[in-house]
Amino acid sequence: MRTLIAGNWKMHGLQAQIGEIAAMARANAGGPSDVEVLVCVPATLIAHAVQAADGVIQIGGEDCSAEEAGPFTGDIDAQMLRDAGATSVILGHSERRQGHHETDATVAAKVKAAWRHGLATIVCIGETQAQRHDGNALKVCGDQLAASLPDIPAGACTSVAYEPLWAIGSGTMPTREQIIGVLGHLRAALDERFGSTSQSIRILYGGSVKSENALEILDTPDVNGVLIGGASLLAHDFNAIVDVAR
Ligand code: PGA
Repeated sequence: MRTLIAGNWKMHGLQAQIGEIAAMARANAGGPSDVEVLVCVPATLIAHAVQAADGVIQIGGEDCSAEEAGPFTGDIDAQMLRDAGATSVILGHSERRQGHHETDATVAAKVKAAWRHGLATIVCIGETQAQRHDGNALKVCGDQLAASLPDIPAGACTSVAYEPLWAIGSGTMPTREQIIGVLGHLRAALDERFGSTSQSIRILYGGSVKSENALEILDTPDVNGVLIGGASLLAHDFNAIVDVAR
């Protein structure tokens, strides 16, 4: 399984920042093929980013509608992302679950829509600080995974991103043992549910990943890649993490 280094620009980025994507592509040109590099950007930038990426790195979206084209003002469907050149989409990020009241069922419907149009998905799950404090982290993450990730049809591609909410954008990292605990639990659940297909599903860690901690994270058992927010905005920071993965 190739390591996935994925960026999440969130609601950041104007055309003036597209040079960062070009610089990421330049740094990865001719790089080893056991690391896959993806940057998920706002929908307004996807087509520009695809051009700047020059086929060297992949560009993805950050959300899509569960619906197909229709009367949904302001929404963007999976086919549109694909049409703009995206290969992947992040779904169920905690900022969407919390800020847009997305339930596990909503996320699962979006995942199916993305698969229908050939997009790889990154399905995000993670517990709050209170849930961890109460000893419920494993149960919360296991339940979210079960309900957010539909049965996988042949040819569909997905990763799961474990992002503890308290680690996102906070600079606070879970301990190695905490990451091992959750990821081991998720891998066992995927193995039990999907059998050998589980081996095609990458588990990513996300939350305050920086070049300084990337090596330790990528060395942790069951970590198949990382999802990076803040440190994916500048090529200088992002490339340093990709370098660590190589
Ligand atoms: P962060 O964000 O790297 O800025 O903590 C990660 C994410 O929300 O995907």
